[in-house]
Amino acid sequence: MQYVPNANRYSSMQYRRCGRSGILLPEISLGLWHNFGGVDVYENYRAILHDAFDAGITHFDLANNYGPPPGSAEENFGRILKQDFSSYRDQLIISTKAGYLMWEGPYGEWGSKKYLVASLDQSLKRMGLDYVDIFYSHRPDPNTPLEETMRTLDLVVRQGKALYVGISNYSADEAARAIQILNELGTPCLIHQPKYSMFERWAENGLLDVLEKNGVGCIPFSPLAQGLLTNKYLKGIPEDSRAHKSTGFLQENQVTPEAVAKAQKLNELAQQRGQTLAQMAIAWLLKDPRVTSVLIGVSKRQQLQDCLQALDNKSFSEEELNKIEAILKG
Ligand code: NDP
Repeated sequence: MQYVPNANRYSSMQYRRCGRSGILLPEISLGLWHNFGGVDVYENYRAILHDAFDAGITHFDLANNYGPPPGSAEENFGRILKQDFSSYRDQLIISTKAGYLMWEGPYGEWGSKKYLVASLDQSLKRMGLDYVDIFYSHRPDPNTPLEETMRTLDLVVRQGKALYVGISNYSADEAARAIQILNELGTPCLIHQPKYSMFERWAENGLLDVLEKNGVGCIPFSPLAQGLLTNKYLKGIPEDSRAHKSTGFLQENQVTPEAVAKAQKLNELAQQRGQTLAQMAIAWLLKDPRVTSVLIGVSKRQQLQDCLQALDNKSFSEEELNKIEAILKG
């Protein structure tokens, strides 16, 4: 079956400027951490990618190690890019990252030039690309000088292997230093990717201010707390869930009674707003203009459609925000 994208795909999605850059990102972006690996079903993830692009999602987020097995999400994405999206490469923002363990030995993880350059070359090969749009340092490396890691980001841009660079999982202080070094090198940091959701608030303690001050975008990952901020776990742990699957990063013991109790109360509030909990969790992040795009994951086509409807109601009254805070404080 030949894929023909929806001709109206740009009419419903809204795009936000990424910091002080030339790049606009869709309010919802799609991540391929889970559900696009060698263990997953090709027809399902291919259809999800079609649906996403059809809805105006132009940004797809990968990393060297996404799978399992590591690397298989990039391979699968590359296959679908070639098959279905080859005419649309210039309409896509494709990101990848290096930082976590990818191969054995001393050069297979963290932030050295040796690892980052080799890893990006491998990623480009797996995806069949000449360049990625964004290359990230996936995590700060406490044992490599930050200058070396940032100089490598600058290098890959100058080599034409990446158009822009980003950082992920850097604290506010680390981000401030990284941004300064990148500015001095002449390759400004485009974006920071932190874990940020109603259940994970560390980004609010300094990071968002650093990003705003420096004109750097922000793309929160795991905005649904891997499914905890959806209706998925309200009545136990379903078989067909990340927490149940042996390949899922979410462990059953993370589905705590406290988290579920909060999700149940948040779900009631979401219903009063005429939303699902997933929709409210996404809208809650988008209420902050410093958030450029919300980076979701989905295992099913229906989940994507559900999440997309978050964009129909992104405003909150003071009362609703106060109720959310009260629920989260428990
Ligand atoms: P989410 O918090 O969005 O969780 C996704 C999971 O939530 C899905 O797999 C699904 O669970 C469930 N879900 C999604 N939508 C719905 C819905 N409408 N109704 C019910 N359940 C739903 O994000 P992820 O944790 O997947 O992270 C998103 C992306 O962020 C990743 O793909 C990756 O690109 C990036 N990321 C980056 C990291 C970094 O260090 N920089 C780390 C982690 C992620 P189920 O599978 O059980 O159906």
